[in-house]
Amino acid sequence: MDPFSRARRLFLKRLSRYGVSLALFTGTRSAIADSNTALTGIRISQSSEIHTRIVFDLSGKFEHRLFTLDDPHRVVIDLDDTRRSKAIEISDKTTALVSGLRSASKDNDRLRVVIDLQGKVRPRSFELKPDGIAGHRLVVDLHATKLSPTPIKTSQQERNKRKKQFVIALDAGHGGRDPGAIGKKGTREKDVTLSVAKKMKTLINRTDGYRAVLTREGDRFVNLRNRVKKARAAEADIFISLHADSFINPNAKGASVYALSLSGASSEAARWIAEKENASDLIGGISLDDKDDLIASVLLDLSQSATIQDSLELGSDVLAHIGKVSRLNNPKVQQAGFAVLKAPDMPSILIETAFLSNPGEERKLRSPKHQAKLARAVFSGIQKHLKNRQV
Ligand SMILES: [Zn+2]
Repeated sequence: MDPFSRARRLFLKRLSRYGVSLALFTGTRSAIADSNTALTGIRISQSSEIHTRIVFDLSGKFEHRLFTLDDPHRVVIDLDDTRRSKAIEISDKTTALVSGLRSASKDNDRLRVVIDLQGKVRPRSFELKPDGIAGHRLVVDLHATKLSPTPIKTSQQERNKRKKQFVIALDAGHGGRDPGAIGKKGTREKDVTLSVAKKMKTLINRTDGYRAVLTREGDRFVNLRNRVKKARAAEADIFISLHADSFINPNAKGASVYALSLSGASSEAARWIAEKENASDLIGGISLDDKDDLIASVLLDLSQSATIQDSLELGSDVLAHIGKVSRLNNPKVQQAGFAVLKAPDMPSILIETAFLSNPGEERKLRSPKHQAKLARAVFSGIQKHLKNRQV
């Protein structure tokens, strides 16, 4: 399902919770927008190397169409019955994905905006109605489809800042005073996860274009929030949390992969909002200071649902590769409210590699050979995912 239609549903649910009439949002969209609609502002922001958000402010109702053109790559947006306001200049701001913006009037009553790109992107767009604070808006999200977009027209400084590698955060579950699950033979989850993480790190750092960072290097306790913080500080592009399950029934077996569930995301949105100065950069530079918490949480939800969609796709590629070296507990990526998966702008998955409570699987998890197989399988899944995104 289109992640934004899900987000929109959530938006409506939230509004109804706040007692706002739904009629405002579900009313029939008029085929002809107000011909006096003007494009009054454009805001471009980059939340990460692989994501740029452009918000168009409009003075009234509008209809839009979006399509892409190649050679050179660009995104074209047609706004019906819209004119460009003289008050604004099209932005000359560039990001890792956008090299410029221009506009032209078409057929007298149509405004065409062209986004010039640094490379191929996957665009998504959605419209936001006035909410008492901001007016009509068109939000366009651009996601990179390549590992490293070709940099053009960027200053030397920007080029130096640009990351050349795809950074994978590896999060070995538990550690220190928290051993995690313990098998019959005394195998501790915290040791198994660290072993697999270290094997993965070696493998990743040996591969061109990739770099791995560990959220813990040794047998240390690190709380969940700090694990995510560490990954963000390292500008990780994805977050992989490694675990091993346990269950009362020793027959429970197989690997599972989890992504964040939306219900888990919504409660976390509230948390991020409490830390406003942290949150502002998470939603692409749209400042939260002057907006109420409801609006801020909606903006975060929109950003998070796109991230969850990415996480689900990543998870299913990883699951398919784990399936080649292990039994699977569930052939589908599951969703739950794991705190460690809640970064709104970094695709994140949690892998339960096997059941330590199952004697056969405990034996396998202790084996360095099997750990190496698992490490290779997870990394292959990640590579597969990135290759798919280039199509
Ligand atoms: Zn665990």
